[in-house]
Amino acid sequence: MKFFFSDSQDTVDPTFDFKTETRAEWRVRQRDDLYPHEIFGVTPYDGILVSKAMVDGNGSNGGRYSLAQRQRFWRTGVRSFFRLGTSLETMGDCGAFSYIREENPPLKPDEAVNFYETCNFDLGISVDHIILGFKPETDSDKENCEVPKEWRRRQEITLELAREFARLCRSRKVRFIPLGVAQGWSPLSYTHAVDCLQSMGYQHIALGGMVPLKTQSILQCLEAIANIRRSDTKLHLLGVTRCEHVTQFQRYGVVSFDSTSPLQQAFKDDKDNYYTMDRTYTALRVPQAEGNPQLQARIRSGELQQEQVRRLEDNCLRTLEEYDQGKISLEIVLENVLAYERIHHPKGDHTKAYREVLQDRPWVNCPCEVCRNIGIQVILFRGTERNKRRGFHNLAIFYAQLQKELASSALETERLNKVRT
Ligand SMILES: [Zn+2]
Repeated sequence: MKFFFSDSQDTVDPTFDFKTETRAEWRVRQRDDLYPHEIFGVTPYDGILVSKAMVDGNGSNGGRYSLAQRQRFWRTGVRSFFRLGTSLETMGDCGAFSYIREENPPLKPDEAVNFYETCNFDLGISVDHIILGFKPETDSDKENCEVPKEWRRRQEITLELAREFARLCRSRKVRFIPLGVAQGWSPLSYTHAVDCLQSMGYQHIALGGMVPLKTQSILQCLEAIANIRRSDTKLHLLGVTRCEHVTQFQRYGVVSFDSTSPLQQAFKDDKDNYYTMDRTYTALRVPQAEGNPQLQARIRSGELQQEQVRRLEDNCLRTLEEYDQGKISLEIVLENVLAYERIHHPKGDHTKAYREVLQDRPWVNCPCEVCRNIGIQVILFRGTERNKRRGFHNLAIFYAQLQKELASSALETERLNKVRT
């Protein structure tokens, strides 16, 4: 089971100084900043997923890449752009989420093929259109349940585009492995899509639109697909992260999945910001007063004193550092963190969560490169350099969890085989 990390140009600056919060003057972002695979001894993924929408943008939607980055990507190809070794795989897709609200996908199969082939991807996903809904009850004849026309239309468009994509791949003898996308709204509709894609000659099929589905629903779809899936058809789950169920997915022919959520949770989740092998922790909110629009507005209106805010922020950072060095007690550091929080987030109360993480000091026990290098800074919800590093740490933990899960399932299979023989 391979894990693909979906790229959104997440890098960290190795010259960043956590004490002064400054960067080296000579730092050039594209040259010096590091991707997760350049930080860790063990790369926390098996491959990288890059979407064309991210690189090129589409229509009014600008991508995440600057013009210079985009040009370099097209010129050097995906492997060289990301400074990937030979062991990591590269998968390209069109970024269907970026045009989910549009009537039709804004790009043609020809453009996708061109992107994957020119940029030297190992695998390329056909153009698709996501269906916004899941209604398993439509599979039953008994219930009078109509399938929205728009859902059928999107499935047909996706299949039509996959047919054209397959034809182009064959006629141009492309070097990448093409994946057809199956979109559906129920176990049977997904099965229908997979069936069609197999008849078009696809041996690799990506299942799309499953991000919001409950694990049970995903399993029901996989179970239904199993009835028609050829033994050599390999499945990829687009955007699905369910580490504890990977071995179940594996039994149904799923060979890979992609996600960005271990990284994103570090700074987008309300509470699960820092992973460990057996639980998650909440990061300590210590926002930069200077760059915080709400705080600045309250200072301007006279509600808060600039000096007072700065003092609380400084005290917070200083005591956290001292706590990490074992110089002060938990109660003192906690009081300082909470005193600042009462100012920057008066309605929130993280007392319990903050006490837990400060007491347990999970960063001390984490062997990952990030935690070893920056210590307690990893648990601070503050600025992109800390938040992204915590995201990288989460990736490393997620990957370790995945490997553990896969290893224990392999052991179990071996044990069962021995029992049988
Ligand atoms: Zn760590």
